[in-house]
Amino acid sequence: MAYEGGVLNAEARAGDGLEARAQALNERLRDAHPAEILRVALTEYAGRIALVSSFGAESAALLHMAAQIDPTVPVLFLDTGMLFGQTLDYRRSLAKSLGLTDVRDLRPQFQELATTDPAANLYKTDTDACCHIRKVAPLSRALGDFDAWITGRKRFHGGDRLRLQVVEATDGKLKFNPLANWAKAELDAYAAEHDLPPHPLVAFGYPSVGCWPCTQPVEEGEDVRAGRWAGSEKTECGIHVIRAEPKIEIGGDI
Ligand code: SF4
Repeated sequence: MAYEGGVLNAEARAGDGLEARAQALNERLRDAHPAEILRVALTEYAGRIALVSSFGAESAALLHMAAQIDPTVPVLFLDTGMLFGQTLDYRRSLAKSLGLTDVRDLRPQFQELATTDPAANLYKTDTDACCHIRKVAPLSRALGDFDAWITGRKRFHGGDRLRLQVVEATDGKLKFNPLANWAKAELDAYAAEHDLPPHPLVAFGYPSVGCWPCTQPVEEGEDVRAGRWAGSEKTECGIHVIRAEPKIEIGGDI
């Protein structure tokens, strides 16, 4: 991989495969501080990259770091129509206080809701289908405008995330995971150092916050994501799951 002053040169951009680019970036950044990973992503892919955020329980640190580097970065927020009111309030207040100027609310298509989930109760019978129309499809449409994206996933969340790399290639795009190496204690320390406001539901026992029908508070000592789709085998909404068909699947903190 060819770098000139830390920046990918044109030949490398055009000639190397996406997988090779992801591997080279991963080798370069795998031990870097999250803010440095973000700086590289937002600098080298300026205008072609978006940050995807749930404005959930652990979102403030990454959003704060991004705002320090480029407050105009597009931030994609999935407003599924099933979010807690507290999350919508937090999305507005946090974006304003951090000075983020391009937060985009991604919503399900009206027509798709009308035909697939007219009573807004699909989550009771088919959570994968519900997540598809309310999360996967809207994000897939929005990411069509970008070559790369940034997520808030961390290895300490367990499951498939235990093998998470700092940079990966999926569905024809680079995916940066700046917080992959960080533990909960580092996130908490960063939030305290910068006086970042917590999501209002954290104080009520929600260490991870998604849609209201599929999120429960957890007991002391339980896994961070134990309250997501509790009682079912589902652990991800699908936005980070690669499928055989050529479409983007995403899930996470989101
Ligand atoms: S998390 Fe639940 S309510 Fe939200 S999109 Fe998925 S199945 Fe539907």
